[in-house]
Amino acid sequence: MEEWTIEINRSATKKEKPNTDQLEFGRVFTDHMFIMDYSVPLGWHDARIIPYQPFSIDPSAMTFHYGQSVFEGLKAYYTPEGNIQLFRPEKNMQRLNRSNDRLCIPPIDEAFVLQAIKQLVYLDKDWIPTAEGTSLYIRPFIISTEPFIGVAPSHQYRLIVILSPVGAYYKEGINPVKIAVENQYVRTVKGGTGEAKTGGNYAASLKAQELCSQKGFTQVLWLDGVEKKYIEEVGSMNVFFKINGKVYTPALNGSILEGVTRNSVIQLLQHWNVPVIEERISMEVLYQAYLDGSLEEAFGTGTAAVISPIGQLSWEDKDLYINDGKTGKISRDLYNTLTRIQYGKEKDPFGWIDIVNEANAVKQ
Ligand SMILES: *Cc1c(COP(=O)(O)O)cnc(C)c1O
Repeated sequence: MEEWTIEINRSATKKEKPNTDQLEFGRVFTDHMFIMDYSVPLGWHDARIIPYQPFSIDPSAMTFHYGQSVFEGLKAYYTPEGNIQLFRPEKNMQRLNRSNDRLCIPPIDEAFVLQAIKQLVYLDKDWIPTAEGTSLYIRPFIISTEPFIGVAPSHQYRLIVILSPVGAYYKEGINPVKIAVENQYVRTVKGGTGEAKTGGNYAASLKAQELCSQKGFTQVLWLDGVEKKYIEEVGSMNVFFKINGKVYTPALNGSILEGVTRNSVIQLLQHWNVPVIEERISMEVLYQAYLDGSLEEAFGTGTAAVISPIGQLSWEDKDLYINDGKTGKISRDLYNTLTRIQYGKEKDPFGWIDIVNEANAVKQ
């Protein structure tokens, strides 16, 4: 790590914290945020923690016009003993740099930004909710700030980290959702930006999401953008299927976002000696597995919900009811084990947990 210092400007007042049982996702933010700027002569510089506040930015700033921006999402958890834990945060830092590379954004110093995140989380630790299933969501993102509306990579950027206390994703236990296979719109294509965590992929997904919710579905299942035959992701989660005792997930192909949860699920299954196969999966093959009774479970994986079982999948005029619309054993075991590791209720044999403690406190 470079010898960078983080300037601290503490908030004079503390905002009122929301009631734990009224927490929504991403509506309330903590007292502080981390900011760092990039310019061509200076590189990344002026790292600082300041009170959470709006900032002004030129209307011609490039991020508003051509979408050159990237983001990440991870969580901080309180353990029953009062320790603060992050789950594989170095994976998020690595992915941020992969997204940066794809969007022509200069790389960050991963160790330094992770250290800044820990310092910010420790400073705002009173905001980490302690009720069952709640956590502090961490949102790092980078925008291009050069005031110029020409189409080119920006010469100026800002990295910001904000924190938001979030409620339990499943209030009444984990429940299967209804999914519609999307046959018209695509999220991305191979060679596009699907592998990168960038806002444009989300903008491209809204229309399909809106239409499927109107029809009573929770999310869409995305197919490949070329042939619309092969399964890619479910909503903004990676997707898994248990067929005949083996677990399948689409192989990373250039348009699928590589989830930290996806990677952890694969490792856990291998640890349990459950065969995991990463390969191209067509909707037709999945449907045949459903018809012959070998499709046992389906679920999405991501930081927000961890595991989201799929109870019903609608494809063209066919409805697949998976595991009678109930949460299957592998889905439940994965959910329980991952969340117990994240919340420090179970031993972590993988070295996934990164503790935030007094060593991350602001020394001033
Ligand atoms: C963030 C994201 C995921 C899940 O990644 P995790 O690291 O597991 O949270 C999956 N798909 C898309 C499109 C995403 O943006």
